[in-house]
Amino acid sequence: MKRKAVFDYDEDKSIFIYGEIAEAYEKDVADFDSMECKHEKVTRRLWTLNSKATQLKDFCDFCGKDMSKALKQSDFPGEHPPFDDSVRRHYVELREGEKKKLVRKYVALQKARDRKLVEDSENWRDEYQAYRRT
Ligand SMILES: [Zn+2]
Repeated sequence: MKRKAVFDYDEDKSIFIYGEIAEAYEKDVADFDSMECKHEKVTRRLWTLNSKATQLKDFCDFCGKDMSKALKQSDFPGEHPPFDDSVRRHYVELREGEKKKLVRKYVALQKARDRKLVEDSENWRDEYQAYRRT
């Protein structure tokens, strides 16, 4: 049976998920990973390096990825908005939040399954004991 370690945020430790729950989880994670930003809206921005030199590049408005090589600034005169690093941070936070939600869903599924297994085995034991008394 497939077994997969995932992090249980409520109990702050790793737990295993099993079988078709683990398989569904892996499929969901693959879908999630393929849903990266499509970089549909891009803005030309001025990026200031640590050295204080600037580079002119096209950046995705949604995730902040640089979508072009450094452009020759003399070819594109005029004002350009500055690169905003918080766009990248927000995107990373957004993705982490979504991934966490996904993991929580499968942890909850596995716990429900575990509870059901315990109940079933208790029922079975009760029945067995009732049978033994007859
Ligand atoms: Zn993007």
